Parts: sequence; structure tokens; C-alpha cells
Amino acid sequence: MQNGSEITMIYTNFREIDKAGRIVISKDIRRHLNINAGDVLQINADDSCITIKKAEEKCVFCNSVEGLIPFEGKFICAACLERLKQS
Ligand SMILES: [Zn+2]
Repeated sequence: MQNGSEITMIYTNFREIDKAGRIVISKDIRRHLNINAGDVLQINADDSCITIKKAEEKCVFCNSVEGLIPFEGKFICAACLERLKQS
């Protein structure tokens, strides 16, 4: 945008959670955030809010987001690293 101002589109959806605890993230939000099937989402909760964020950092082998170790601009999780060492 001009003169440094930027308009941020805010997406608001109301969705019913199903018995298994699943919700649908609408196509417009998925497209906006480039979220595709198989992507890992990081879900955080505090006393009143849940935030869902696309996990930018994940293991290149198993998509885990825990125990990540950076390597050559990618990430590998401790479990996969251990398996690599043993193979
Ligand atoms: Zn892994």
C-alpha cells in the first residue's frame, strides 16, 4: 500500500466443533495463510483463547514440531536424528 499504511484483512468464521473435537478452517483462511492438507498447525491455548498457527518449523522427515534441531536451513526432530544415527 502507499504511504506505508497496510490494510490487514481479518477473517472471522463461526464453526461448530464436532464430537471428535474437529473444526473446519474455511477455504478463504486456508488460502490466505497457504495452509494445505498435510501441513502441521501449532495450537496454543490460554485461559480464554485458542490460537492456531501454521508451524513454520517442523521435522523434514516426520513433520513433528517438538525437539527440533536446526540443520542446513531445515529442521530435524530429536527422534528422527536418533533413528538416523542408528541406521
Ligand atoms: Zn522427525
